[in-house]
Amino acid sequence: MSRITVPFFISHQGCPHTCVFCDQRSISGSSGTLPDAQEIAARIADWHGSAQGRPLEVAFFGGTFTALPRQIQQRLLAAVHPFLRSGVVSSIRVSTRPDALDAENVPWLAGQGVAIIELGVQSMDDAVLEAAGRGHDARASLDAIRRIRENGLMAGAQLIPGLPGDTPATACASLERVIDAGVDFVRIYPTVVLRGTELARRYGEGTYHPLTLQAGVALCKTLLRIAMRRGVPVIRMGLQDDESLRDGAILAGCWHPALGHLVQCELYHDLLFQLISALPDHSRPVTISCHPTRLSAVIGQKRSTINRLQQQGISIRRVLADPVLSLPECQVSSCGFSSRGSLLHDQIKIHD
Ligand code: SF4
Repeated sequence: MSRITVPFFISHQGCPHTCVFCDQRSISGSSGTLPDAQEIAARIADWHGSAQGRPLEVAFFGGTFTALPRQIQQRLLAAVHPFLRSGVVSSIRVSTRPDALDAENVPWLAGQGVAIIELGVQSMDDAVLEAAGRGHDARASLDAIRRIRENGLMAGAQLIPGLPGDTPATACASLERVIDAGVDFVRIYPTVVLRGTELARRYGEGTYHPLTLQAGVALCKTLLRIAMRRGVPVIRMGLQDDESLRDGAILAGCWHPALGHLVQCELYHDLLFQLISALPDHSRPVTISCHPTRLSAVIGQKRSTINRLQQQGISIRRVLADPVLSLPECQVSSCGFSSRGSLLHDQIKIHD
């Protein structure tokens, strides 16, 4: 049974930095005040009431949790402990900066019931980190991931492709390096230019050129393919849709309310095109099959993938749900031939 996350945003709290891209208030839609024990308990009870038996996970997102004074960290976590003991909450996750985790605070967090630590890695390229004003290098991220894993906790990495100085090659290398270091999952947030940030100033004066939506989707497609093929889940792509973001906070960059879905559609389009091209006669109408839960990603938003294939000269007879296929697989059939392939590898099997 999948867990439900009960989020608490602690924007900018504990953070001594001002990264060029960051306006935590716009990102989280939060005023930046810390919840007290009563608020935490009330929200957990609320979510428990509607969870229908699904386990809850409490997450302290935003800010730099481990840079908060220890007594504040303790107060926030202690408010969750009764729910951990009763089994209402199954785990706690916190997010923080890589350089705010030392050899002492990771075991302390583990002792407080924290099971997952998400790191704002952003890039594994030191020049990109410096241009973003992060104040730490890639070594700090490697050390933090190692400490988290040595203490038996799960490690997540947040990456921000498209920062100043980043290229598709450095973005892919950053992902490969955090996977090599042993992260359990990643989040990918292509850079957006938020009003009031240093990045907005650079964008305004023409010294920073953000990723367009199209370029960001293409890059995220490559990143998602790498992560899938290496067996590391991408648990989020693109900033969460939020009123404060829609309210003019975004000046430019790669943002779409359903970015992850767009990227998945792109991946399936490429796979289908490859499979159809492998058929002996791909000028004839084609039947597409995929796992039932992947129908919307295969068909595309407003049938965009089907329309695009048709514009590419391919006639689609129909799209079928086939529970025998695994999630990343698709099969296309035409005139007694079929070709089958997966997002996880490049081999195509053709049958008649
Ligand atoms: S460390 Fe995190 S919260 Fe602090 S300014 Fe940078 S991105 Fe924002």
